[in-house]
Amino acid sequence: MTEPTTQPPPEHPVPAGPVDPEEALDRLLRDLRTRREGLTSREAARRLISSGPNELVRQRGRGWVRRLGQQLVHPLALLLWVAAGLAAVDGTLPLAGAIVVVILLNAVFAFVQEQHAEQAVEALSAYLPAQAQVLRDGERVRVEVRLLVPGDVLVIAEGDQVSADARLLSGSVEMDLSTLTGESQPVHRAAYAGPTTVPLLQATDLLFSGTNCLGGEATAAVFATGMNTELGRIAALSQRVGHVESPLEAQVKRVAKLIAVIAVGLGLAFIPLGTLLAGLSLGDTMNFAIGLLVANVPEGLLTTITLALAVGVRSLARRGALVKRISAVETLGSTSVICTDKTGTLTMNRMSVVRLWSGGRLGSADMVGTPGEPAGLGLLSPCPAGPSALRCAAALSACNNAHLDPDHPDGGLGDPTELALLRLAGRIADGPTGQPCPTPNDPPAAPTPPPTRLRQFHFDPTLRRMSTLDHGPEVSAGGPRSTPVVVHSKGAPEEMLPLCVRVADPAGPDRSLGPSETRQMDELVRRWANDGLRVLVVADRVLPAPDARRVDELTRAEVECELTLVGLVGLVDPPRPEVAAAVARCHTAGVRLIVVTGDHALTARRVAEQVGIGGTAAGLRLVNGTDLERMPEAELDEVLAGGQELVFSRASPEAKMRITDALQDQGHVVAMTGDGVNDAPALRRADIGVAMGRSGTDVAREAATLILTDDNFATIVSAIEAGRRVYDNVRKFIVYIFAHATPEVVPFLVYALSGGRVPLPLTVMQILAIDLGTETLPALALGREPAEPGIMERPPRRRGQNIIDAPMLARAWGLLGGVSAVLVTALFLASLLVGGWSWGADVQNGPLRAVWQQATTITFLGIVACQVGTALATRTEHASLLQVGLTSNKLLLWGIAFEIAFSIAVVTVPPLQDVFGTALPAWWQVLALAPFPVLVWGADEAWRWSLRRHPAS
Ligand code: ADP
Ligand code: MG
Repeated sequence: MTEPTTQPPPEHPVPAGPVDPEEALDRLLRDLRTRREGLTSREAARRLISSGPNELVRQRGRGWVRRLGQQLVHPLALLLWVAAGLAAVDGTLPLAGAIVVVILLNAVFAFVQEQHAEQAVEALSAYLPAQAQVLRDGERVRVEVRLLVPGDVLVIAEGDQVSADARLLSGSVEMDLSTLTGESQPVHRAAYAGPTTVPLLQATDLLFSGTNCLGGEATAAVFATGMNTELGRIAALSQRVGHVESPLEAQVKRVAKLIAVIAVGLGLAFIPLGTLLAGLSLGDTMNFAIGLLVANVPEGLLTTITLALAVGVRSLARRGALVKRISAVETLGSTSVICTDKTGTLTMNRMSVVRLWSGGRLGSADMVGTPGEPAGLGLLSPCPAGPSALRCAAALSACNNAHLDPDHPDGGLGDPTELALLRLAGRIADGPTGQPCPTPNDPPAAPTPPPTRLRQFHFDPTLRRMSTLDHGPEVSAGGPRSTPVVVHSKGAPEEMLPLCVRVADPAGPDRSLGPSETRQMDELVRRWANDGLRVLVVADRVLPAPDARRVDELTRAEVECELTLVGLVGLVDPPRPEVAAAVARCHTAGVRLIVVTGDHALTARRVAEQVGIGGTAAGLRLVNGTDLERMPEAELDEVLAGGQELVFSRASPEAKMRITDALQDQGHVVAMTGDGVNDAPALRRADIGVAMGRSGTDVAREAATLILTDDNFATIVSAIEAGRRVYDNVRKFIVYIFAHATPEVVPFLVYALSGGRVPLPLTVMQILAIDLGTETLPALALGREPAEPGIMERPPRRRGQNIIDAPMLARAWGLLGGVSAVLVTALFLASLLVGGWSWGADVQNGPLRAVWQQATTITFLGIVACQVGTALATRTEHASLLQVGLTSNKLLLWGIAFEIAFSIAVVTVPPLQDVFGTALPAWWQVLALAPFPVLVWGADEAWRWSLRRHPAS
C-alpha cells in the first residue's frame, strides 16, 4: 500500500478520474496524491495543465438571440412599429421601410451597447483577481484562485470565501452556505478522518466553493475545482443574470414613456384638427402624425444612458474603485455621508511599534521611542529584554496569526497590527544588538522554541481582544517535568485591564495589580492614545492543572480572566498623505464624514484631526461605543442630525448598522466602509457598501457594492466625483437630444395650423436622418464629457431627485429648442419666398417643387447646424465653454465633424438625395446657416452667464 504522505510520482501527476470526497481521509489524500503539507509548486503547475484553471465557465448559449429580440419589442420600438404600420396603410411604403430599418438599427445598436455595459462590469474581476491561501512547498502562500488544483491544501480563516471544494484536514470553522443552499444560518464544519455517506452538502467535514467562512481556522485538501465543484454544477444550470435596471434608467424610462404618450396624443389630436379645421386630406394628416411621433420618440436615450454608466464603471476602475452594479455609479454621485473606518482607510495600515512598557515600576520603565520613528528602530534601549519583556514577546508571538516574510512587500502575511507585534517580539528576543541581554534574574538565554498552540479564541471586534492557549516551556520545579498550558492574550486596554489581576515584575514574582496602579495604567493609555497611538495590552496566565486537562471545553470567559499584565504596546499608523486633501474636497462638496472605528476615542480623534475631519465650522464630536450602545434611537438621531462630523470610537460592527439606518431615515445617501465578517450586514444596508481590496475579507467584498483596490479613502472621494460626472453627463445628453424636438415640431404646427397653406417644412425621412444619423455620435460623446469645474463645490443632489426636471426641460425645449425653431422656420420661409412662393401656392406639383425641396433641405441643414450649437452649449450646465475649453472633448469634435459630413452627403450625393428628398441648396442659403451654431450656443451661454451672476434665481 502506498504511504499517503509520499509525493506522487511525476509520471502520474493528476489523480485519475473523480475522487470520492467522503471516503476515509487518508484514502482521499492518497487518491488525490497529496499530503497534509500540500503540493510542491512545480507539481501544482503540472496539475493545472490537466485540471484546467479553477474558473466557472459561463454558458453563453443562444441568449443573445432572445436579448436582441427583446430590443425589437420594447415599448418605444413598438411605437415605431405602429408608425411603420400607419405609413404602410397610408401608402408611403418607402417611409414604412425606412422606419423598419430604423427599428432594426436601433435594436442592434442598443444590443451592442448593453453588451458593452455588461462587459465593463464583468471585466472588473481582472482588476482584482481573487486569491486564496494555500500550502505550497510546505509554506503558506497566497495564490490566485484560478491557479488552484485538486490536491492543493487550502488555509481557510474567518472572512475567507472558499474557492474550491475541499475536505477539512484540521481545525474547525463556522460556514455560511447560503450561496449554495440558500440557508443563511451558519453551520459548523470540522475535520473528521473517517468515511461518511450523507449527501455532500450535509457532510460536516466538507467545504464548498463560493461559501464563506464566518469564524475559525482550518486547512482543507481541494478535491474539485472549476466546473467540477458544486457551485460549477449550479452555474452550468443557471442562466446568466440579466441587466438589472438602475433607478436612473427606471426614471428615464418613465419619462421616455411619458413623452411617447404625448407624441402619440399630439399626433392623434391633430388628425381631426387637420382634417376638419385645416381641411387637409387624411393621408396628409397621417403623414403629419407619423412625423410628430418619429420626431419625439426618444429611441436611443436609454441605451445611451446605460453606456454612459458603463463608461463610468471603467473610469472608476482605473481610479481604483470597482463597482459591482452599474447603478452604483449614479448612487455614488448623490452620496451625502461617508462613514469610514480609520485603520487602513484613513491611515496607511502600516503599523509599527513605537512604544513598549513592560514590567517594572510604572513610569520609570516607560521605554519610549518617538512616534513616527521607522519600525521602532532604536526602540529597546538601553537593554529592556528583562524577563517580563521576554514574557511579553512570548505572548505576542503566540497570540498571533501573522507570518513574517521578508520577501513580501508588506513584510509578511496577516493583519498589519499582528505583523508589527511579531516584529517587536523578534526584536525583544534578539536584544538590541542581536544578543539576548543577561540580567541577574534571566533564565539562560536559550532560544525559546515556538509554543505549540492548543486552542484559539480569535480576535473578536466586539470584545476587541484575542487569546490563545499554548504549551508553555517545560518546567521541572522540584517535581516531575511538566509542560503547563499558558493563556496568551492581547487586546484593547479597556477590555484587557479589567481582566488583569496581577502584573509581571522583573525583580521577582508577579505582584497583584492594585487600584492605584490600574489608574496609573489608564493614564498611560490615555497619554499614548492622545498621541495617536493604537494601544494594546498584553497579558498571560498559567492555567491551573484541572483546567489544563480540559482545554477543549473551556469557554472564553473561563480562559480570559485573572490575567497577568506583561506589557503595553503603542503602535503608530501614519495617516495616508492624500487623505487630507480628499477630506477637504468632501467638505466643499457638502459630504459629511463620520469615523466609525474600533479604536480608542483619543487615538481616533487624533487621526481624524490630522486629516482634517471635524475641520468644518460645526466641529467634531466624539461618541464612545458604550455610550452609543445605551443611547436611545431618538438621541442617536439628534446626534446625527447635528451638522458636526463625528467619531464613533470603540464601536461594534452592529453600531455601523444603527448609524446607517438612522442616517438613511434622515434622507442621507450613505457610503459605509467595512472589512470584517461582522460588517457585511451594514455594507449591504448602506447605499454604497465599500470594502477593501487589499486588507478586507472576501465576505466584506461580497457584501459591498464598491471595492477599493488600494484601500484608500481618497479613492471613495474620486469615485463620488466620477459618479457626479456621469450623472451630469447623462443630463447633458438628455438636454441635447430633447433640444431638437422644438425645431422639428414647430414647423409642422405651422403647416397644420395654416391648413396646409404653408407647405411641409421637413420630410419624415429627413427627421429620421437627424434622429438617427446626425445626432447619435455627439450624444455619445457628451457622455464622455470631462467633469465640469466646480463639480465638487456644490452640495449632493437629494435622494430620489428626478434626473429630468422642469428647468432642464425649459432649457432644452424652450431656450435651445426655441431659438433653433425660430432660426430654422425663418430660413425655411425665406427660402420659399425668395424662390417665388406665395401663401397657399401648390409646391407638390409644378415649378415650385424644386424651390420647396431646396427649402426642406435647408430646414434639415438648419436643424443640424443648430444641433452643433446645442452640443457645444450642453457641454456645461453652469460654467462657460471658455472655462472648459473648446477642445477638451475631442470625441465631441469628431462627432460634430461626422454629423456635418453626413449631412453634406445627404444633400449632395444623388442616391441619398433621392432617399431623403433633398436638393442641392443655394450658396446664400448655406451662408445663412453659418451663424446658426453660434447663435444657439450664444443664447445658452448668455443664459448660463446670467445664472452665474444671480445664482439664487
Ligand atoms: P479599527 O476600526 O481601527 O479597524 P479594530 O476593530 O481593528 O479597529 O480594532 C479595535 C481594537 O481592537 C484596537 O484598538 C486594538 O486595541 C484591538 N485589536 C485590534 N487588532 C487586534 C488583534 N489582532 N488582536 C488583539 N486586539 C486587537
Ligand atoms: Mg481593523
